[in-house]
Amino acid sequence: MIEWIEGAGKVRCTEALELDDLPKGTVSRLLVEIARDALGAPIWAPVLVARGEKPGPVFGMTSALHGNELNGVPVIHRVINDLQLRALRGTVVGVVIANVPSYLREQRRFPDGTDLNHIMPGRHDGNVAEIFAYRLVHRILKTFNYHVDLHTASFGRINSLYVRADMKDPTTSQMAYLQRPQIILHNPASDHTFRGTAMELGIPSVTLEIGNPHRFQPEYVKRSIVGMRAILAESGMVAKRPLSMKEPPVLCSSSKWIYTDAGGFLEVLPGVTERLQEGQVMARLTNAFGDIIREYKAPFDGIVIGKNVNPAAQTGARILHLGVPADAKEHGFQERREWKRPKARKPKDTER
Ligand SMILES: [Zn+2]
Repeated sequence: MIEWIEGAGKVRCTEALELDDLPKGTVSRLLVEIARDALGAPIWAPVLVARGEKPGPVFGMTSALHGNELNGVPVIHRVINDLQLRALRGTVVGVVIANVPSYLREQRRFPDGTDLNHIMPGRHDGNVAEIFAYRLVHRILKTFNYHVDLHTASFGRINSLYVRADMKDPTTSQMAYLQRPQIILHNPASDHTFRGTAMELGIPSVTLEIGNPHRFQPEYVKRSIVGMRAILAESGMVAKRPLSMKEPPVLCSSSKWIYTDAGGFLEVLPGVTERLQEGQVMARLTNAFGDIIREYKAPFDGIVIGKNVNPAAQTGARILHLGVPADAKEHGFQERREWKRPKARKPKDTER
């Protein structure tokens, strides 16, 4: 136990998330050691754990796996601190900052240049990034029964509020619908992502992309909290609350990033969530002297999931992320249904 994070009260330092050791009916504040820095000092991930009085599943949220993607931080703080612990069934875990070294440097990538979300599940005997990834999986992720990974756009870009999920999977599709984002992108979990690793471990997982990097965006944060609560309620962990109706999400079967084929100053015209028609001008590229050298047109009818807002565009710069709106039935996606209550499961042993 230490008391040196200002205002935090008692904080428990640990080498792994041992949920069964934590007291029921309280929120525990943990610092989970992921690695040691070059002075031999621990690199700790701050983690909140709300253990209910009643048994139930472990629902885990992870934020800032990319160190500059911060909208998930207030989501985790508020979801956990608003829980009624006496009524809570199971455990809610919030990893406030997963990638601490990159957070401290205010950058997406790990200090050695690696994207942690491309090398999961890491290696126990790997290099600095691989060991860090491995321990995030084995010390934290493995304890979850359900997982939401919280991200935002990258530097120089902005996102809508959207979910990436396997919409053919009965559980992750329902998690995506319950989150009620602006857009749901069907995206089977790929290898080497945190979400993909969770799915391979049998932990249903979705990625929630919350707007823009380096920001707290209150409107998106609020919507994300409501969505997270809806997942908890539908899984029987908390009481159901009436939800205010928002527009249903636009379901997309796939998406495509479109890039420039020349360099210059880039202006991307539509905003996020705007619908584009095939052939509609969506961006202009201007040379150093102010002449328009390219007009980029939408290659198909779509919806803007995210876009570049950085005018400095080298050849191959991203323009925008265009989703292909789809009908759930046509694509064999799961449709919205009542979510069956998951059975309480003992967390798997964590590996040290
Ligand atoms: Zn990210």
